Amino acid sequence: MTVVTRFAPSPTGYLHVGGARTALYSWLVAKAAGGKFVLRIEDTDRERSTQPAIDAILEGMEWLGLNWDEGPFYQTKRFDRYQQYIDQLLAEDKAYKCYCSTERLEQMREEQMANGEKPRYDGHCRDNPNASGDRYVIRFRNPQEGSVKFNDHIRGPIEFANTELDDLIIARSDGTPTYNFCVVIDDWEMGITHVVRGEDHINNTPRQINILQALGAPVPEYAHVAMILGDDGKKLSKRHGAVSVMQYRDDGYLPQAVLNYLVRLGWSHGDQEIFSVDEMVQLFKLDDVNKAASAFNTEKLNWLNQHYMKSLPVAEVASYLQWHFTDQAIDVSKGPALEKIIPLLADRVKTLKEMASSARYFYEEYEAFDEAAAKKHLRPVAREALEVVQDRLASLTEWHAEAIQGAIQAAAADLDVGMGKVGMPLRVAVTGSGNSPSLDVTLELIEQEQVVGRIARAISYIMEREQAQQ
Ligand code: GLU
Repeated sequence: MTVVTRFAPSPTGYLHVGGARTALYSWLVAKAAGGKFVLRIEDTDRERSTQPAIDAILEGMEWLGLNWDEGPFYQTKRFDRYQQYIDQLLAEDKAYKCYCSTERLEQMREEQMANGEKPRYDGHCRDNPNASGDRYVIRFRNPQEGSVKFNDHIRGPIEFANTELDDLIIARSDGTPTYNFCVVIDDWEMGITHVVRGEDHINNTPRQINILQALGAPVPEYAHVAMILGDDGKKLSKRHGAVSVMQYRDDGYLPQAVLNYLVRLGWSHGDQEIFSVDEMVQLFKLDDVNKAASAFNTEKLNWLNQHYMKSLPVAEVASYLQWHFTDQAIDVSKGPALEKIIPLLADRVKTLKEMASSARYFYEEYEAFDEAAAKKHLRPVAREALEVVQDRLASLTEWHAEAIQGAIQAAAADLDVGMGKVGMPLRVAVTGSGNSPSLDVTLELIEQEQVVGRIARAISYIMEREQAQQ
């Protein structure tokens, strides 16, 4: 049997982390079995489904690398398929027309609630040959006895008594099929063997199983994934910061870090924290997924992000980092290759966004000195140190870290001061701030002429300040 799984989002918003985790689990099940992963867009709710949401979901899946083998299939393009099965169920008397008016249903509902009963359709039109009217919906004839049992991969054995389920509407009065019915037909026609989805769908499962059985279709296996909570224990929502997958891209996370984070959010393998995608495919088991809700932990995501910034092939990190330079309008075409700056900065920042913004000085002159750094290090006493080191650097005939280091040391020796007395003003002069990787390797990546020019700028700054104070 070929394992076929699917991700079936309703395009009413962006791809959020809960959906992405469900998609990842579903994708892993397919990959591990050498099976297929299907993407299906459940867009039957035409008022709430939008093209931007579809685009955002596809973009999120692509960014995460969750590639699909089939699809995307759109439910709105499959109405004639659903109609065919509705006709079949009607012809076999496994579904029936219900003419009950909204008023009648409303009144029934109120009475049931007043009696403390769970509101459910009372079967008025189920076996009523006299039922008639202008408008009707089509209801599935749900079995009235027995129960529906399934063994959920995450939640264990689950049973629903059929008396708990009423006759579900499968087509509305305008003829359009309803959500649960479309899911059933799609899962069947697409050959889905494992349904992995959020636990908010657990009540739909017995209804869907009954319809599958009425159609003589095989029943897939199910796994209902628990919710994700924010770090305050409440259901994860926008209030907790980023919940859209693409927001994580924008905030500077690598897809590898997000995937690793998501796989661990509700699943574990001993105390291992780092999983490459290949390892996930090898080790992930639906049965090991936690049935309790998991809480989001941004610090852990940051930790993973830094791990991947440091350990992924630098060319791969560079391709994601480039996005952030473009986003921050930093033109990197005239500065050092991104591959050169990544090893210098990966230890010092948590995200690629921070990496790009803190690397600006490699590519362009900063607009102004960091105020605190300038106040501390660009004082009159620093002027001489800057002049001496400027001369030393300007006269270098080779521009590499070792020579640069030699020039800084020589300047400190000329002045008979410690390296810091030269190094700190130089750092602020060249990078605009008091915080940068080691000066020799930093300066090596900036053109000699640029460095000398920036020192001159710092010297003028000191002189202007001196004059202003006189
Ligand atoms: N379209 C549903 C949702 O977005 C998922 C349904 C399913 O996986 O069966 O929540």
